[in-house]
Amino acid sequence: MILPGATLGMLGGGQLGRMFTTAAQTLGYKVVVLDPDTNSPAGIIADQHICAKYDDSAALEQLAQLCDAITTEFENIPATTLAYLETKTVVHPSSSALAKTQNRNVEKQFIASLDIPTVPFSPIHTEADIIDAESKIQFPAILKVATFGYDGKGQIVCQSLQEVFQAFESLGKVECVLEQRIDLEREISVVLARNVSGQITNFPVAENVHINGILHSTTVPSSVSVLLAQSAMEMADKIAEGLDYVGTMAVECFISTTGDVIVNEIAPRPHNSGHFTLNACVTSQFEQQVRMLCDLPSGNCDLTSPVVMINLLGDVWGNSQPHWDTLLAHPNIKLHLYGKKEARPGRKMGHFNVLADDTEHAMKIANQAFVELKAD
Ligand code: ATP
Ligand code: MG
Repeated sequence: MILPGATLGMLGGGQLGRMFTTAAQTLGYKVVVLDPDTNSPAGIIADQHICAKYDDSAALEQLAQLCDAITTEFENIPATTLAYLETKTVVHPSSSALAKTQNRNVEKQFIASLDIPTVPFSPIHTEADIIDAESKIQFPAILKVATFGYDGKGQIVCQSLQEVFQAFESLGKVECVLEQRIDLEREISVVLARNVSGQITNFPVAENVHINGILHSTTVPSSVSVLLAQSAMEMADKIAEGLDYVGTMAVECFISTTGDVIVNEIAPRPHNSGHFTLNACVTSQFEQQVRMLCDLPSGNCDLTSPVVMINLLGDVWGNSQPHWDTLLAHPNIKLHLYGKKEARPGRKMGHFNVLADDTEHAMKIANQAFVELKAD
């Protein structure tokens, strides 16, 4: 066990790294963040910020020297960086787990290898692959870049083979995956944590609404049946075991209109849809991440209140600050802001959690608060 007082390393300085840092510091750890941005949300609150690129060998050497254990908040940290750090200190999740989640084709092949359903997909490296995909994928389909996509970026909906050729061209002919677009009944996610001995703790299944490919709201408890939630949790646990994963991770699932659970993607880190745990669970996903990294006992994942989480994108800012006073006048709303200076449209700036006696009530308050919040 790595006990409080020790120093933990975080690769990546975004909001997930920031909330990890807060959780770690609350437990009495020191945190060193490595991120190339001088103003990163986590870097500005960490005990130390190493401002360098993720493949800067001198910076990695310094991080390894300073830290008793290192984790990440960002799946696009080069797997070679983690592999290097693994030779020097404790690193979770492993470079090999991360490598399986960095490329959509590799990830979907891995999920399928566990006999877990994914959307019908076809890897696209060249134009010839597009022709081959025709027999496997029905339209409408979505062409997605295989690496570095997030928040729906690098995705183009295609209605025909002709449109796939055009989309491939406009994405710069980088490696892509062509996915069938599924008719969605709902979207859910499972956030879980797995420790060094392989024991898994599951947070309650979350129900998610995306707008323009970006998460808008999460509601817990979800409205899906116990059986369906159970089945999603079993798939997520199997994926964690298959990756020999250590840490907090999430599995995003589609529920099709035919009632099937289909795994969309894996996040090898805490997840936006797990932010409800900050105010509505005994242990947050970030505290659990600290506990897993340090091989401490797992925290209790039980829900303490029905909750709705609403994301705050830069769009809410307009020309001035949102009306925080109005939002905070709701006694059961908990606000979390990430300390980002510039509010750009589509940029995740913060979120709030609404606690209420039931999810309908929480959603009603959340919708009202969201409308009132918008800057003029
Ligand atoms: P993030 O990393 O923020 O989750 P991402 O860029 O990895 O986003 P995806 O999870 O692939 O994006 O897609 C974002 C959203 O777009 C999904 O949550 C879903 O609402 C919709 N979507 C993506 N792929 C499909 C599909 N094959 N069928 C139906 N809807 C889809
Ligand atoms: Mg996603």
